[in-house]
Amino acid sequence: MKPAPFAYERARSLDHAIELIGGAEDTRLLAGGQSLIATLNMRLSRPQLIVDINRVPGLDHIRRRDGHIEIGALVRHAQAERSAEMTAHAPLIAKALPFIGHPAIRNRGTIGGSIAFGDPAAELPACFVALDGEAVIAGPAGTRVVKADQFYKGLFESALTPRDILTAIRLPATIADMRTGFAEFARRHGDYALAGLAASARPNGKTLSEVRLVFFGVAATPVRARNAEAALANGDIEAAARALATDLDPPDDVQATGAVKRQLAGVLLRRVALELMEGRT
Ligand SMILES: Cc1cc2nc3c(=O)[nH]c(=O)nc-3n(C[C@H](O)[C@H](O)[C@H](O)COP(=O)(O)OP(=O)(O)OC[C@H]3O[C@@H](n4cnc5c(N)ncnc54)[C@H](O)[C@@H]3O)c2cc1C
Repeated sequence: MKPAPFAYERARSLDHAIELIGGAEDTRLLAGGQSLIATLNMRLSRPQLIVDINRVPGLDHIRRRDGHIEIGALVRHAQAERSAEMTAHAPLIAKALPFIGHPAIRNRGTIGGSIAFGDPAAELPACFVALDGEAVIAGPAGTRVVKADQFYKGLFESALTPRDILTAIRLPATIADMRTGFAEFARRHGDYALAGLAASARPNGKTLSEVRLVFFGVAATPVRARNAEAALANGDIEAAARALATDLDPPDDVQATGAVKRQLAGVLLRRVALELMEGRT
């Protein structure tokens, strides 16, 4: 199918982009286009106006500052994959990036687009929550910062309003004792996951503290498995796997039944728990 007719504007600056999206009823931003173009072609969205932000300066940085690593919204997945800063200070993201689609998609797709779009089966939104990140959002009233735990509200719904632009995400820069784990099941490498898990924790003697287990592909948003986190903090992997029965209630979807997804979640948890406990990061 072809998209419904739309107007197109290329933003020169962040202020210009905010002005453009404030001036029309129904707008979408064009970042990497890897999700937007498909939704337009399938007529799942019919915006009046597309605002291209690719030439907005100042949104493609990866920098370490004040104990954080800040990743500009227009950083391409491939750029992040090649970044030594990301490997050193955001290893969870570095582990997850190769699972996103294929090189052609990662050459165009942006970190900001993935976080903003918030596909429930996408890798980066779950990593963002697992790392307790922050979203930097510019809107008509200025800039605000939203914690990852408060960012996702529902299926493709987030703290972003239609008048907002995500300008960057900030992640606590990984320091020596932080551990991360990542695993997913997809039918073929590069497909969206049937179920996945992004996790972080700190070693605490023979146990773990600050455990964050964030599943994706099993609910409308990335979901923290809080009972499993508590069990894993006590070092009990099997109790953590059992706790998923109360933490997760995956609906059936076109890929798998909820029961299969719950089963997969348990397998993922056991794998990632070993990664966290043995510090294979
Ligand atoms: C074949 C295929 C396979 C894929 N497989 C995967 C996969 O396995 N895992 C995965 O995570 N993704 C996958 N993707 C999606 C890919 O990661 C996209 O790049 C990503 O989801 C969206 O990023 P984008 O920059 O392309 O955003 P776009 O497509 O340009 O925009 C998507 C949406 O986000 C909004 N948006 C974009 N940037 C911003 C911003 N800065 N602020 C506010 N709103 C913004 C737009 O308005 C639009 O509604 C796949 C895509 C394809 C085509």
